Amino acid sequence: MAMTGPTPCSSMSNHTKERVTMTKVTLENFYSNLIAQHEEREMRQKKLEQMMEEEGLKDEEKRIRRSAHAQKETEFLRLKRTRLGLEDFESLKVIGRGAFGEVRLVQKKDTGHVYAMKILRKADMLEKEQVGHIRAERDILVEADSLWVVKMFYSFQDKLNLYLIMEFLPGGDMMTLLMKKDTLTEEETQFYIAETVLAIDSIHQLGFIHRDIKPDNLLLDSKGHVKLSDFGLCTGLKKAHRTEFYRNLNHSLPSDFTFQNMNSKRKAETWKRNRRQLAFSTVGTPDYIAPEVFMQTGYNKLCDWWSLGVIMYEMLIGYPPFCSETPQETYKKVMNWKETLTFPPEVPISDKAKDLILRFCCEWEHRIGASGVEEIKSNLFFEGVDWEHIRERPAAISIEIKSIDDTSNFDEFPESDILKPTVATSNHPETDYKNKDWVFINYTYKRFEGLTARGAIPSYMKAGK
Ligand code: ATP
Ligand code: MG
Repeated sequence: MAMTGPTPCSSMSNHTKERVTMTKVTLENFYSNLIAQHEEREMRQKKLEQMMEEEGLKDEEKRIRRSAHAQKETEFLRLKRTRLGLEDFESLKVIGRGAFGEVRLVQKKDTGHVYAMKILRKADMLEKEQVGHIRAERDILVEADSLWVVKMFYSFQDKLNLYLIMEFLPGGDMMTLLMKKDTLTEEETQFYIAETVLAIDSIHQLGFIHRDIKPDNLLLDSKGHVKLSDFGLCTGLKKAHRTEFYRNLNHSLPSDFTFQNMNSKRKAETWKRNRRQLAFSTVGTPDYIAPEVFMQTGYNKLCDWWSLGVIMYEMLIGYPPFCSETPQETYKKVMNWKETLTFPPEVPISDKAKDLILRFCCEWEHRIGASGVEEIKSNLFFEGVDWEHIRERPAAISIEIKSIDDTSNFDEFPESDILKPTVATSNHPETDYKNKDWVFINYTYKRFEGLTARGAIPSYMKAGK
């Protein structure tokens, strides 16, 4: 075989290959970061000038604004150089758990601001080949600067974990809301589905496909409006999406005969009872995934609209259309949707609603949204929705929050030992992953807006230091 260029070739040892990749990644990141930083700075400057033009400011006013902006840039640079770490945050409470770690409510010690901190165990990620996953998550959160997406402010890492510091959404998630309620009314469903349409469309416009739209990833802000979280799967490949994974899971279990014969009420109860367990498992639930995503033939952004159809069904009926006793059984039902997607006669819903669900959950070639989001927005089910102002108007269900760190909309989670290094290291000897640390390179990120929008002044800047 002829050697062409410095790509790792088969005659190299694994160790050498890894070193080559490591160097390459390091260099690429270094330069693309420098360029990106410069470009971002220029863009912010341009944006400022443009805004001042639009506002028709006088020269003197412009001068003041420019100087304030320059100060903000300096502050940002300084923040970029400060190394944030775990010790800068006080952990208040565990508010969520997922397959690879947990989410905590934390408070930044110097400013007192509260955030949600997602903690991911490096060892678990390497073990479960989730590195593509985490990089993808970081990438989209950085890029998506939208009202519809959970904002990320900082990220950092230590030997054991990766940490994402995001805005805390006190309204909880849609999964928890659905577990509390039997069903939602058509009006409430219209509101949540409409907002999620706009949220999904906003990430599509950025060129991303979510692929993992499900109620656990729809968060509610302090006023009860929807935001998307969890971009881990935008480009990565999680087990839950692998066809062979479901085919090969050997289950000698009988088919879910008992489940099939339950009435809607019992189905909903069983579903809600087992739901949280499903959210924690690495396998995940295939309930919301479009059939074409499972197939090797490819898929496009329309797969997100399928998932929304499944959620809409769950909101109105009380459980999702393909739910079963095992993920394998669910997978089979999704693939066989033409027969399995039915509406229980004992839970009546309007024809408009039924029609839209069937327009979301069908072959992608015929699916609503194929010709653009307008097609969805003008569907009869959304009659009366004020698309332009929906986010400023009162939400269908308002959220009651007593303080900025109110966690009453979250379930109780027991304290864990994820932040205790002694326990963690004994399970995963450091040597296992220390040499792999380069895969997490470029993970650290700080957000320009997070800084002054929240009035956060680093402590070293206070008291005239
Ligand atoms: P994955 O779905 O990729 O396995 P995960 O389930 O481990 O990820 P998330 O879905 O991001 O992690 O978070 C788990 C739960 O934590 C969410 O369902 C939600 O209840 C809570 N949560 C996550 N982010 C926030 C946030 N910014 N504010 C409030 N709660 C959050
Ligand atoms: Mg999740």
